[in-house]
Amino acid sequence: MDNDARDSAASENVVTTTALYPPERITRVREAVGRAGLDAVVLTPGPDLRYVTGYDAHLSERLTCLVVPAQDEAFLVTPRLELAVAEASPAGGLGLEITSWQETEDPFALVAARLAGAARVAVADHMWAAMAFRLRDALPGAALTAAGGVLRELRMRKSGAEIEALRQAGAAIDRVHRIVPQLLKAGRTEAEVGRDIAEAILAEGHVSVDFTIVGSGPNGASPHHELSDRVIGRGEPVVVDIGGTMPSGYCSDSTRVYSVGQPPQDFLDYYAVLRDAQEAAVEAVRPGVTPEAVDAAARDVIAAAGYGEYFLHRTGHGIGLETHEHPYIVEGNTEPLAEGMAFSIEPGIYPGAHGARIEDIVVCTGTGADRMNLTPRDLVVIDG
Ligand code: ZN
Ligand code: ZN
Ligand code: ZN
Repeated sequence: MDNDARDSAASENVVTTTALYPPERITRVREAVGRAGLDAVVLTPGPDLRYVTGYDAHLSERLTCLVVPAQDEAFLVTPRLELAVAEASPAGGLGLEITSWQETEDPFALVAARLAGAARVAVADHMWAAMAFRLRDALPGAALTAAGGVLRELRMRKSGAEIEALRQAGAAIDRVHRIVPQLLKAGRTEAEVGRDIAEAILAEGHVSVDFTIVGSGPNGASPHHELSDRVIGRGEPVVVDIGGTMPSGYCSDSTRVYSVGQPPQDFLDYYAVLRDAQEAAVEAVRPGVTPEAVDAAARDVIAAAGYGEYFLHRTGHGIGLETHEHPYIVEGNTEPLAEGMAFSIEPGIYPGAHGARIEDIVVCTGTGADRMNLTPRDLVVIDG
């Protein structure tokens, strides 16, 4: 970390766990369970459980779950050997009942006994299918559905603390992008560069590296290409799309394009179009506008310039405790944007010999878009 980066890291406000995961959230969730016409939701470890309690529980074959009944107090079920971990987690500070089960007990029977008579129960989208089937067998009278829709509305509208956490994640990945020019050199492989970037993602404050895409030359035209042993050549554009998870639980995701030496003219031609398209989509963001209109704002610019067939994917995805979550910025999504929604704006053009994508995370404010990623969006030409 250089001095500037250290200063900016130190000056960031600390978002407290209580601010991020407020105790009253469980009440909001219980209300949502009732509104959805459900008797209860059962949340195993994953983003929903963390959203409701702050508990970053690990997913294993031993059942851990938060049960939120519509008409009763919520309770957390944990294996006995993880009781201390659960109590020490933010969930332990919520005044929540924590019930533990011994190795020889059947935790599904325990949950079922507490939910006797329930007719409609939703389980976390991330619950293992094997567990969902065991719960179904333990609750033969209940119809089981996926709980994603119940928490969707709540999770989509970020609180001030969540936006601050996303801003810190954005600043952290921006610091990584600022050192990428030192790592990219003709003669190095994508994998070598990717390893250095992964190290930097951790050094700049993330607790995990979620993905490192280094797409040089033709690999840049494959949007989800990650890393390969391809040697980066002179005059080649390189798409660098990177992200990780912060200690807060919130994710970063940003793409910039670099060129090792001067890139070909046909690349520069469409990169200028892409730059305008990304800008147009960011400018289209405001409450009441549909995600499909934001998608069209980017797509129209690209199509008008004759590159429409090379824009292979939607314009963006929501982001928060997951890198990909609602709202999706895609044709067909007509649910209007609202203040607090956070998502990527990442149009791309992929003709084949090379490709490009520019990606920022933005938050919808009362009047427009607030960018979480602030590094320059111009092509970075490296003298490497
Ligand atoms: Zn993607
Ligand atoms: Zn990305
Ligand atoms: Zn993305």
